[in-house]
Amino acid sequence: ATMREDRIKRTKTVCTYCGVGCSFEVWTKGRHILKVQPDEKAPANGISTCVKGKFGWDFVNSEDRLTTPLIRKGEKFVEASWDEALSLMASKMTEIKWNYGNDSIGFIASSKCSNEENYLFQKLARSVFGTNNIDNCSRYCQTPASTGLMRTVGIGGDSGTIEDIENAELILVVGANPAESHPVLATRVKRANKLFNQKLLVFDLRENELAQRADLYVSPKPGTDLVWLNAIAKYIIDQNWHDADFIEQRVNHFSEFVDSLAKYTLDYAEEKTGLSKELLIKVATLIHEAKSMCALWAMGVTQHIGGTDTSTAISNLLLVTGNYGKPGTGGYPLRGHNNVQGASDFGTMPDWLPGYEAVEDDEIRSKYEKAWGTKLPKEPGYNNHEVVEAIQEGKVKAMYLFGEEMGLVDSNINYVHTAFEKLDFFVVQDVFFSKTAQFADVVLPAAPSLEKDGTFTNTERRIQRFYKVFEPLGQSKPDWEIFQEFANKLGANWRYEHPGEIMEEAATLSPVFAGVDYSRLEGWESQLWPVQKDGTDTPLLYEKEFAFEDGKAKLVPVEWSPPYHPGEEYDLHLNNGRILEHFHEGNMTYRSEGITHKVPEPWLEVSPQLAEKRGIKTGALVRLKSPYGEAEVRVWVTDQVKGNELYFPMHTMVEKSAVNQLTSSYHDKVTHTPNYKEMHVKMEVIEPK
Ligand code: SF4
Repeated sequence: ATMREDRIKRTKTVCTYCGVGCSFEVWTKGRHILKVQPDEKAPANGISTCVKGKFGWDFVNSEDRLTTPLIRKGEKFVEASWDEALSLMASKMTEIKWNYGNDSIGFIASSKCSNEENYLFQKLARSVFGTNNIDNCSRYCQTPASTGLMRTVGIGGDSGTIEDIENAELILVVGANPAESHPVLATRVKRANKLFNQKLLVFDLRENELAQRADLYVSPKPGTDLVWLNAIAKYIIDQNWHDADFIEQRVNHFSEFVDSLAKYTLDYAEEKTGLSKELLIKVATLIHEAKSMCALWAMGVTQHIGGTDTSTAISNLLLVTGNYGKPGTGGYPLRGHNNVQGASDFGTMPDWLPGYEAVEDDEIRSKYEKAWGTKLPKEPGYNNHEVVEAIQEGKVKAMYLFGEEMGLVDSNINYVHTAFEKLDFFVVQDVFFSKTAQFADVVLPAAPSLEKDGTFTNTERRIQRFYKVFEPLGQSKPDWEIFQEFANKLGANWRYEHPGEIMEEAATLSPVFAGVDYSRLEGWESQLWPVQKDGTDTPLLYEKEFAFEDGKAKLVPVEWSPPYHPGEEYDLHLNNGRILEHFHEGNMTYRSEGITHKVPEPWLEVSPQLAEKRGIKTGALVRLKSPYGEAEVRVWVTDQVKGNELYFPMHTMVEKSAVNQLTSSYHDKVTHTPNYKEMHVKMEVIEPK
């Protein structure tokens, strides 16, 4: 090696963006990031990365980084020492707890942060503050999918590996845009479609890139997925195409399920979904002819009033056709954030302790009480949605939030902001001074993944190690260190010296992580939970049994109800989602030169038909109005959308252009996930261009 190469440091890391969980080496010199180098040993991605993983790292060295704690003084924030900030938090939060009770404090965790950090945060909420008021952003996206799977097959995670998706004869994609949201996973689907003759069936409102490549692309009316899913299941059973042996041996409640489908005839489905009977039969035939099928879905399914039920219907269809427990089958909710799976797995949920053990279960709680030496609360706490309501009602007085831009990404943000303003005390811990931080009383500077050690869990339940590249910038600190110092200020006696010790504790307590250990996660090594004590992991779930006591899956009847509509005057359906280059509110990608250079701001997709009707062209400026707020955005005329359909990317740091000015506080009946995808708006032209 030359001298020059000697000074270049290579460190293995895991992408900080989406749930595919690409891993690669980052090459650095000093604090300079030279490049990202993928490796064929990387389990989820091999030699692939997308534009975000490759060029989305400059934010780490951004001038906007928070480098010191800040304390609010009137309208201003002043710099403070760690000791001042943590002492103030300790006294304020203790006082509030004392005056209003344990459940007067809410905790919002981060799906961008590590498993170990999420574990410690829920331990802080539960064992130090005695509350289950804790949640993470899976409430905004994937909790309905997890719940649908838990109801039917028992585990709220992808059934198999990303690699195994290539083995399916048919891929069914519902309400997802993997080519932009999960690009490296989509590459596998594209490859299998081309090389292995895999069939691709895409259901989406918008003719996205995978839809364009699909063997069959289907666009039902918004909010009607459950209807065609039930109708296809019924048709398959009526034709005697269902997998009777599989159902007989491995599935409960078949006859109740069949009864529940009575009304979902092809006629009914045609009327509700707008899809012809011929097309529905074509879909059913494709599914019938495939020996194996994987179903991939995301927020086009989950962010509806019936999000959990539609996720359940997908899983029901997989069960009816025997598509679980063998290669190339199963349910794949596509996780958004890099660690949204892990944040939930490690217990930042109001009803689950780590490893999905119920807080209400006395035995489980007593196991944790013994280990942590404290009494734990039994009642499930407030979720993200309920905590906003509870603040509005004066029941929750303080909140501690880390690594989550709730002030832009929650639905109906004007309502969320008024809640923030009502808080007596608000702590925001982040890498940047976020929109949410503007409402805080204390702002704590956190270190991003390149400045700490830990593990992330990707969409396929794969736990992967990332390593520290740089020292934390300024006085920023890894989130887990901050939690530990704060807990100790309140009298806890935590002595973790490394995240590996936190994982050790989680592994002792939670059976699904029993054999997870840093010594088994070195370099490119990884483990897919559940992991037995001897380190054996589980790439493919349900090979022998489903995760219920009798080992059998459950068919769960679900009923359709129409989506929310704010009223006839709101004449345009507003769909929203991601684009390839940016990520969520954009706090990281807009601060990465290589990306902002390419896409400086998001645009509103308008169909050629609508553009002509309103006399507007690409570049026009429009104002969208819903009953909840208004947003201004520039237009891109494209035939990716049709008729009165609008597509509004969610990525903006500019409040007045945020899609969540427009979304409502209505939500999935079961999980309270906002119905982001069920919005209608009016459009006014500001500049026609
Ligand atoms: Fe990162 Fe996802 Fe892109 Fe992979 S596909 S590089 S995990 S954003």
